[in-house]
Amino acid sequence: MRREQYKDFDATELFCPRCRRAVPVRKRLLLVLANGDKYDYTCSFCGTSVGDKLVTERDNIKVFIK
Ligand SMILES: [Zn+2]
Repeated sequence: MRREQYKDFDATELFCPRCRRAVPVRKRLLLVLANGDKYDYTCSFCGTSVGDKLVTERDNIKVFIK
């Protein structure tokens, strides 16, 4: 059940340090790595990067919030 933890991550809002509030985010593919794809999340208002996510081949998802 733990792997469902971040299932809805794409739909959530993240805190933007520049706007100083939770904002809707845009997701974009940042890097294609040997062990998975790295996605970057940016604030939809000011474009500041607010977090990133690594999706591995084994469908393990790691989320890093700045
Ligand atoms: Zn912002």
